[in-house]
Amino acid sequence: MSDLSDKYESVEIVGRRDFGPDLWSVRVRHPEPFPFRPGQYATLGVALEGKPLERPYSIVSAPEEEELEFFFELIPEGALTPHLHRLQVGDTMLMRRRPKGLFLRAGLDPERIHLFLATVTGIAPFASLLRQLRLRAAGGGEAAPPRLAMVHGASFSHEFGYAAEMAELTRQLPGFEYVPTISRPWGDSGWEGETGRAEDVLRKHADRVGVRPGRGLVYLCGHPGMIATGRAVMLRAGLPDQDILEEQYWPEGKAPLGAKE
Ligand SMILES: Cc1cc2nc3c(=O)[nH]c(=O)nc-3n(C[C@H](O)[C@H](O)[C@H](O)COP(=O)(O)OP(=O)(O)OC[C@H]3O[C@@H](n4cnc5c(N)ncnc54)[C@H](O)[C@@H]3O)c2cc1C
Repeated sequence: MSDLSDKYESVEIVGRRDFGPDLWSVRVRHPEPFPFRPGQYATLGVALEGKPLERPYSIVSAPEEEELEFFFELIPEGALTPHLHRLQVGDTMLMRRRPKGLFLRAGLDPERIHLFLATVTGIAPFASLLRQLRLRAAGGGEAAPPRLAMVHGASFSHEFGYAAEMAELTRQLPGFEYVPTISRPWGDSGWEGETGRAEDVLRKHADRVGVRPGRGLVYLCGHPGMIATGRAVMLRAGLPDQDILEEQYWPEGKAPLGAKE
């Protein structure tokens, strides 16, 4: 790995949680300080025959946390995630030395209503921001903006790996609301929550929380199909294009067969 070390750090996995056969999160220890802003991503990878195989992953943890956290979805025919999925506590992976990304760069406007829309792992950048708000509020720092809501979509409820934390955050952050919705309720008999794809219930919740032109900001993260439809729905609701922000996890129309909705 000698020649990779100029661009990459080797980070050790110090924690892992599995949320299902193809969804897991890890916490890694970075030997150096790794300053980043909520919304940014790190470039993670493995060395295969001395060559790096890498992909971008949004950071789940808040910048103030000791370790860095990531939430992964296994793409069985993908190039990298099968390798990452095999890594356990104590194993290492490659990480580029600098975070990247502009998503959520503008921060939160206290005068506006913020609506986050995510599919499965797309919750990552929002979790980082919410954790930072909680830490700041707990530390007596600036309070969270008046109204924050997240609509989080998945096929089945077990994919909501951060549901318990989000429920806790709704208690700790006044004005924050979390709406998980599943698109395949027929395969999830115990589910009593919202049903439908995230983009299909978007308008209902946007109207309910008061997202209006000039008053609301909408952030879309994850599945390209959700992002395209979500943007169209909010443009039809009269929101200006610049008030709809996005982070797309893979190119439109490129999902492997059987990929999650
Ligand atoms: C800014 C950014 C942040 C990202 N953050 C995360 C994150 O926090 N967690 C995470 O799991 N992924 C995240 N991704 C996606 C990640 O970078 C990889 O594309 C993904 O992990 C698949 O990598 P792979 O090498 O296994 O598959 P590849 O060989 O790269 O992809 C195989 C095929 O699957 C498609 N694909 C990629 N991801 C998915 C998916 N989730 N569902 C369906 N099809 C997909 C690709 O377009 C391609 O056609 C992010 C992407 C970007 C651009």
